[in-house]
Amino acid sequence: MTVHILMHAGKHITKKLEPETIISSLEQGGSIASSLEHFEPRQSQLDLMRLVIRAFNEDSLAAAEAGTGVGKSFAYLLPAMCFALLNKERVVISTATITLQQQLYEKDIPLVASALPSILASLSGSGSAAITKQFKAVLVKGRGNYVCKRRLEEALKDPPHLFPSDNNELENLNAIHVWVEKAETGSKSELNFVPQESLWSRICSEVDLCMGSRCNCRETCFVMTLRRDAADADILVVNHHLLFADLAARSDSAGYESTVVLPPYTRIIIDEAHNIEEAATSFFSDEFSRIGVFRNLSRLYRKKRRGTARSGLLIRLEALLGSSIVSENRIADSIENIRKAMDDLDEAAVELCFHDGVFRLTHIKDEIINSRIKTNFIFVRKNINIFTSLVNEMLEQIPEEKSSPGVKISDTSNSIESLVWEIKSIIRYFENIANLCSSFMEYKENPDKVFWIEKNTGHQQGSAWARFSQTPLDIAHDLKESLFDVFKTVVCVSATLTIGQGQDSFNFWKNRSGLGLVEKKQALTGVFPSPFPYDTSVLLGVPMDAPLPTEPGYSTFVDSACTDLIEIAGGSSLVLFTSYTSLKSAYETAKPRLKEIGIPVFKQGDDDRSRLLKTFLEDSSSVLFATDSFWEGVDAPGDTLRLVILARLPFKTPNDPVFEARCEKLEQEGFNSFMDFSLPEAVMRFRQGFGRLMRRSSDRGMVVVLDSRLLKKSYGRIFLDSLPKTRSCFNELKNLLRNAEDFLY
Ligand code: SF4
Repeated sequence: MTVHILMHAGKHITKKLEPETIISSLEQGGSIASSLEHFEPRQSQLDLMRLVIRAFNEDSLAAAEAGTGVGKSFAYLLPAMCFALLNKERVVISTATITLQQQLYEKDIPLVASALPSILASLSGSGSAAITKQFKAVLVKGRGNYVCKRRLEEALKDPPHLFPSDNNELENLNAIHVWVEKAETGSKSELNFVPQESLWSRICSEVDLCMGSRCNCRETCFVMTLRRDAADADILVVNHHLLFADLAARSDSAGYESTVVLPPYTRIIIDEAHNIEEAATSFFSDEFSRIGVFRNLSRLYRKKRRGTARSGLLIRLEALLGSSIVSENRIADSIENIRKAMDDLDEAAVELCFHDGVFRLTHIKDEIINSRIKTNFIFVRKNINIFTSLVNEMLEQIPEEKSSPGVKISDTSNSIESLVWEIKSIIRYFENIANLCSSFMEYKENPDKVFWIEKNTGHQQGSAWARFSQTPLDIAHDLKESLFDVFKTVVCVSATLTIGQGQDSFNFWKNRSGLGLVEKKQALTGVFPSPFPYDTSVLLGVPMDAPLPTEPGYSTFVDSACTDLIEIAGGSSLVLFTSYTSLKSAYETAKPRLKEIGIPVFKQGDDDRSRLLKTFLEDSSSVLFATDSFWEGVDAPGDTLRLVILARLPFKTPNDPVFEARCEKLEQEGFNSFMDFSLPEAVMRFRQGFGRLMRRSSDRGMVVVLDSRLLKKSYGRIFLDSLPKTRSCFNELKNLLRNAEDFLY
């Protein structure tokens, strides 16, 4: 996206933004306001923009809570885009979801860009020489979203029997081959079908597999083109994962001046900042499972159980070399040994997870760890080390003249160098697993990490498998050092950053995200309330006769209350749970009755998340039962959503190993883990769930919380006080149902 801007070149000093000039474009009759179809002046939006302008002008950090409907994207885009152009400083805008990334890139940025020439003309003054500058924004997704032409060509050379025949992988591969010729960005989202995960993982770009300047496809490579494009962009729209990948590499050793994952930048806007801790935790975690190990072994070498057919990268390499480098017996034995060791480790791990589905490695379980699993880690590591040495030994046999850079045999895709590159990246994967095994064995020496195992259930009965994860206990210090201490301006925005009211309301989020640890500069904060009429359009209901979640009868109460409430609302409902078991129970109770009256009912797991949401949005009377990720990011305006049921207050379960470890750490530091962590975290999530109902100012509906702790426990007040003022009905269920009928119709 490019827009020509006439600018004035002056001395290279930071040019400040004039608040009133910028703000006036979003006031009635202003250049942006008049381009918006349903523009409504919003004081909160202008106030938020004023805070963002201050953060840019004063090189400050800022945290802003902007309620639904404030129009936060325009409030930060305008200052960010003006500042980037005026000062030739690149600004990164990071979001948690691809939906927001696309909305910014496809709708909001072009709209602001069209108004930039007139705004900048008034901002830049008349004393300097005029220059023409192009405004440029680039959307950068993670590498895995883009097809890698080299890997695609290699996959096309694979024999057909390597593609499962039951799920059209080969057909889809051929369709991707055709699409690549005319694809604009090479991003998976450009395809008009969703490729199988197993297929996409074979052909997408991966950092370890990318040959960069040595790749024969580099000239037309989508990732390389994107990198070149990003190099002169004023605004980069990225996701949190990509931002953390860039920050991690920069703080490791790459520094802040050169291109790493992203080209250098000086200022950052983080939208959807409420889950920055979760996003960073996921980025800095490491995991493995037998499924990944087996898949990578097969990529290197596989032999049919019956017959002599062999395939894999090592066999292809051998064929290209025209000489034997693979010692069949040794490699087959070595692979078999890893498989056996990994199977044993997996079996022992699944057994350890028998009770709770998870097992955390802690001092008090030392005896169990030593007697039941430690030896398995040792065997996996030992066999992996033997295997990687063996493969390295084979690679060393390649004559130097054939393996030296630039030597290609017959065609690009099957070049020896390309295959060696790919094999080496798989070796690195195995070396990483061997290191993870060591870390698990020496978990006591890594107190800043949580080591845990989770049991997953496969599709076939009895096919449970274990995932081994290593997660950082605390990311606040890392974020402080690599983000808040370094960049001139970091503005964090979200609809939910505060707990309660007043000066301290940002403290919880600031401390978890690392912003609270910054000493060098003060962070600006501001709360910008939603302009929506919650007080007249939303009824908050809590049935006072609901048993407490710990009391008998709670589950039965929830199951039947969900059905009654949905029936009264005529569908158009989102029912949010904290556990899949409760979800299933309520879904199975409600489905027959709702089906009878023609209300379609869906549940999480019926389809992938985006398709499920699309189906839910398309039929305005439908009902969706969901957990986890659906507490946020569901945007169902109008009649599609008239009732949100929150089955339970969203406290994390105590058997979540990372949560448990973080609570213990806080207790050791003298904090109260319930009041200082568990409760505020649940309040943030509760506010996200509540926020699903009203997406437009004309929306009207009910939020019903089937957890009477909201009224019976003293901490319930903290949840209630964190919501905007609504109408309320705290009464027995039968009266609540009557009230619901009166309110909704
Ligand atoms: S440069 Fe890297 S991502 Fe691009 S085609 Fe080559 S290997 Fe794939």
